[in-house]
Amino acid sequence: MFDYLIVGAGFAGSVLAERLASQSGKKVLLVDKRNHIGGNTYDFYNTEGILVHKYGPHIFHTNSEEVYKYLSQFTPWRPYEHRVLASVDGMLVPIPINLNTINMLYGLKLSTDDVENFLQCRAERKTPILTSEDVVVNKVGRELYEKFFKSYTKKQWGLDPSELDASVTARIPTRKNRDDRYFSDIYQGMPLHGYTKMFENMLSHPNIKVLLNTDYKEISDLIPFREMIYTGPIDYYFDYCYGKLPYRSIEFKFETIGAEIFQATGTVNYPNEHPYTRVTEFKYLTGQKHPQTTIVYEYPKQEGDPYYPVPRTENAELYKKYQVLAAGLKNVYFTGRLATYKYYNMDQVVAQSLKLHKTLIAFAANDRQLNGHKLTSFQS
Ligand code: FAD
Ligand code: UDP
Repeated sequence: MFDYLIVGAGFAGSVLAERLASQSGKKVLLVDKRNHIGGNTYDFYNTEGILVHKYGPHIFHTNSEEVYKYLSQFTPWRPYEHRVLASVDGMLVPIPINLNTINMLYGLKLSTDDVENFLQCRAERKTPILTSEDVVVNKVGRELYEKFFKSYTKKQWGLDPSELDASVTARIPTRKNRDDRYFSDIYQGMPLHGYTKMFENMLSHPNIKVLLNTDYKEISDLIPFREMIYTGPIDYYFDYCYGKLPYRSIEFKFETIGAEIFQATGTVNYPNEHPYTRVTEFKYLTGQKHPQTTIVYEYPKQEGDPYYPVPRTENAELYKKYQVLAAGLKNVYFTGRLATYKYYNMDQVVAQSLKLHKTLIAFAANDRQLNGHKLTSFQS
């Protein structure tokens, strides 16, 4: 008998498997329908011997010391600060928009103070700020919004920024200085030997059994377990009874080129008419030395693997209906980007799973005190 059936071997499921096995002495069956662990962060060496990310570029960054220290038990890190250029008006300029971006685009020599005025003159004040269009137009005005955000967002989400929650484009700051890093978190880096190696280390505990190539619905009636942790899409768990939740997908097209370097930085964004949103060159991320180089183009699409929950009001309302069903289940816990329908980065998913583990321990302690009377299930 397993104490836990955990569905999904990405960050959400693997952190819980590791914690429950190593800290709480639980026996865990971790099941994934794919043929590998690591979820969307899975990386591998391609036929040319270059380390690539199967589901698009993943750069680790966090302000959480707890998350960083936790993951550091399973991997050393390669220091790496991601930098992105955007292809705008025939130039490659830094994104997030910073002082250099403005000076390059407009042929100016503004200082930090000047750029403050420059942007203030262009910004259109919006109150309240409700949409992804409002956020950007309110900060930098319509012209820069159209150059950097409008068409990229339309491609990425199949929606106009005015149809998306403010939180989506609010992920991208605007800077008055020359800081050209994509992220400004305290901790930034890449697992030195890759994500998959880090997951192998996390899951190497003898109390964890991993079952791949298996949809949990094929085995959940056959294998006895006490509780389930579910990290797949929440609407699938409930057989889409309220209809499908929209998740955005991407087609990744890889190319290996017979040159050491393809582009000037880790990622180039294309906020223009190209059908892809961005191109990433893995060797910048991994630091690998190799005479060839592999790049990946991202083509967003409607159908396919569910990668991005789509943050907008009607989707949040539909998710809430599923959340009510989930909260009513005893002994099934929902966590992760797909199961809680949150546009979370890796570190946020790790934090969510560490929190759920603490809650499960507290439940178990209460349960013992209450002589076996069950508490209601936890929804983070
Ligand atoms: P997932 O990694 O999706 O894992 C869920 C697992 O559940 C999957 O392996 C799936 O196969 C399995 N599963 C689903 N249904 C079933 C079923 N019925 N039976 C069995 N198994 C099932 N975050 C960052 O912090 N930095 C980045 O640079 C970054 N870049 C990203 C780029 C892209 C293109 C994408 C799509 C995401 C990116 N992210 C990034 C986000 C990051 O991928 C997620 O935060 C994280 O991987 C979510 O982990 P998870 O375990 O919740 O979900
Ligand atoms: N975005 C944009 N232009 C850019 C970069 C980002 O319009 O050059 C918008 C777009 O809507 C995108 C969102 O900001 O989906 C968040 O960007 P991020 O790079 O965080 O996306 P992710 O890495 O999660 O795909």
